[in-house]
Amino acid sequence: MRIAFLKELLKACSFIFEKLFLHSQKSIFLTSQMKTLDNYNFQGKKVLVRVDFNVPLNDSFLITDYTRIDAAIPTIKLIIAGGGLPILLSHLGRPKGAYEEKFSLRHLIEGLSKRLNLPVKFGADCIGEKAENAILDLKQGEVLLLENLRFYKEETDGDIGFAKKLALLGDTYVNDAFGTAHRAHASTAIIAQFFPNDKLFGRVIEQELNAVEKALSSDQRPITAIMGGAKVSDKILLIEQILDKVDNLLIGGGMAYTFFKALGGQIGDSLVELDKVNLAQTILNLAAEKNVNVQLPVDSIAAKGFSNTAERAIVDNMEILDGFMGLDIGPKATAEFVAIIKRSKVLIWNGPMGVFEMSNFEKGTKGVAAAVAEATKNGAFSLIGGGDSAAAINTFGFNNQVSYISTGGGALLEYMEGKVLPGIKAIQD
Ligand code: AMP
Repeated sequence: MRIAFLKELLKACSFIFEKLFLHSQKSIFLTSQMKTLDNYNFQGKKVLVRVDFNVPLNDSFLITDYTRIDAAIPTIKLIIAGGGLPILLSHLGRPKGAYEEKFSLRHLIEGLSKRLNLPVKFGADCIGEKAENAILDLKQGEVLLLENLRFYKEETDGDIGFAKKLALLGDTYVNDAFGTAHRAHASTAIIAQFFPNDKLFGRVIEQELNAVEKALSSDQRPITAIMGGAKVSDKILLIEQILDKVDNLLIGGGMAYTFFKALGGQIGDSLVELDKVNLAQTILNLAAEKNVNVQLPVDSIAAKGFSNTAERAIVDNMEILDGFMGLDIGPKATAEFVAIIKRSKVLIWNGPMGVFEMSNFEKGTKGVAAAVAEATKNGAFSLIGGGDSAAAINTFGFNNQVSYISTGGGALLEYMEGKVLPGIKAIQD
């Protein structure tokens, strides 16, 4: 009797703890009287905007995917419309703290200018005289892009002196780089302290936070999380965290086989993390305790090698023969997943159901993407995690048929896990 009471007490305490602390960043975001793009006076201000222009370039240094550039456009245009001078700060690639031609942001000017339909000037350094002179040259209606922040190793070190040099260039700081919000870098977090009354989120971050809030705090049921991708280890924290919020948890992709291993299945040569088998079992137990319906894929399309042309077979996931590896969820599993997705009112999708990059193993991911699009058409709210799930949605052409596609991979995962992101906190403090 006493033990049962203590257990209940503990449960209540951990619930209150979670509400108060783990998601405190969201409630601060929603309740504070923070300045936003909409209520800030940009007139005549030099506005430092941290954007995420870490875009893919081809061998001729042409941009091959404009998603991140397009995402930043509303914020830039709003600043210009308000009479401000946008000075864009970004990183590109992983230079080792010194100039490298292939990582120069100069390559982006033409594409950015076309996309914005505005003149874009370039500053050949992100701090010091070259940056200052470029800013002096900047006129209303123009945009300035400064050189790659990561040509200084102080950027990723989160060096306060470097952050101060950046801060000296502007009157206002806007963070719109959600993809790097989980990093305490000079330009993403440390710089904000120099703008106690003039720091704000850009549209991208605003939308990201609102989308997560909408998905995780929805009173619409059922809420379904679809988890996939290669590894359990990358997403374990999110899975644990999300068990408190969702009614259904669908697990596909390479990570599913670690769960089948935990259930005593034979998984052949499928991807497995042997050191996570116990954890997978713990998650299944925890889900049962919390009344979450965990749906594992009953079957797979397995192949005799990691190749699109390898011999294939549809197999029961508890009995995959040696020599075969599961590379996609099978037709029965896809049908079961699709049925649950179509009944859901909120969908959170992170990670593909199989090796969707190969045409013979794309069906599961494509089926799930189509079902998410259909549920959205019927009124569900769908949040697609960045990285590979976003790539899959784009590949299959459903990108305009879902509610929100995140621009952040790691940042989104960490935010949904309830972690405090330095780039978010720095604006809120
Ligand atoms: P992640 O970055 O963890 O979301 O993993 C995405 C990658 O997982 C994609 O490149 C997929 O090709 C890969 N993947 C998905 N399912 C499987 C599988 N059954 N076996 C091997 N790789 C997979």
